[in-house]
Amino acid sequence: MNLDTIGVIGAGTMGNGIAHVCAKSGYKVVLVEVEQRFLDRGLATITKNLAREVEKGKLTATDRDAALARIHPSLDRKDLAACQLVVEAASEKFEIKQQLFRELDEICPQETILASNTSSISITKLAGQTKRPDRVIGMHFFNPVPMMKLVEVIRGIATSDATFEAVKSTSEKLGKTPVLVNDAPGFAANRILLPMINEAIYAVMEGVATPEAVDEVFKLGMAHPMGPLTLADFIGLDVCLDIMRVLHSGLGDSKYRPCPLLVRMVDAGWLGRKSGRGFYKYE
Ligand code: NAD
Repeated sequence: MNLDTIGVIGAGTMGNGIAHVCAKSGYKVVLVEVEQRFLDRGLATITKNLAREVEKGKLTATDRDAALARIHPSLDRKDLAACQLVVEAASEKFEIKQQLFRELDEICPQETILASNTSSISITKLAGQTKRPDRVIGMHFFNPVPMMKLVEVIRGIATSDATFEAVKSTSEKLGKTPVLVNDAPGFAANRILLPMINEAIYAVMEGVATPEAVDEVFKLGMAHPMGPLTLADFIGLDVCLDIMRVLHSGLGDSKYRPCPLLVRMVDAGWLGRKSGRGFYKYE
């Protein structure tokens, strides 16, 4: 397959990062949103982040301009008909993704691969919304996308070898390292990371240690670049809670019970960095 145009749905935290790396790697990008202001915000972030790479001498001004020119912003999902690969990075709600996958199946040519950047929703279930389950796959990038090397490539039950190979080689062309994972709640990264974060929150709730002490233990004792509670604030405590709920219901084991302190903090609107308060306070 001659893959030269990639569609990205959603220009939020992840979508703008995915569009950034695709355009910088030479792909034409169709970036789709639901409202102009979200497109404008996503494009402003891409422009700012590419400018920073120019300042640091990692990118020339000419290459920056060429990358920006390759991005076609749109409010019309029909424009995705031009893409050989679409990466869906819309909000983490099954109803939204279900609707999108049904629509993409109608809009895109039969050979187009439909990928989702979901953190937790079953790829097999999304594939089941389409008539091309062999061409549906998970492409799970990490935040911030331009910096993080990993892409978890998730095979649903029906994903074909050809689809996997195409997504693997595209991930490599984006400068990423694809790692194959099978479809299961939380895939591999969140299946392991989130229970650790949840346990760190239990430790704080039970008075074992303060958030500062827990984070210091992980930085100094385990050589983690940031502790689990700083990381939780960065991910968003609401996102952490959603993923724990997916693990709890999907795996049916009480060891995945979300920590009551996490639930209380989300109820209070303490969502981490994005709301100005989580385990720490932010300006
Ligand atoms: P976000 O809320 O920052 O952005 C989502 C964007 O999708 C919003 O701008 C919204 O307007 C747009 N959107 C919603 N419905 C749409 C539709 N029908 N068509 C086009 N655009 C639509 O969310 P995010 O953090 O970027 O997460 C996006 C996806 O990536 C989720 O599935 C999430 O689980 C996953 N993810 C997030 C992270 C993270 O650290 N934030 C990491 C890995 C994966």
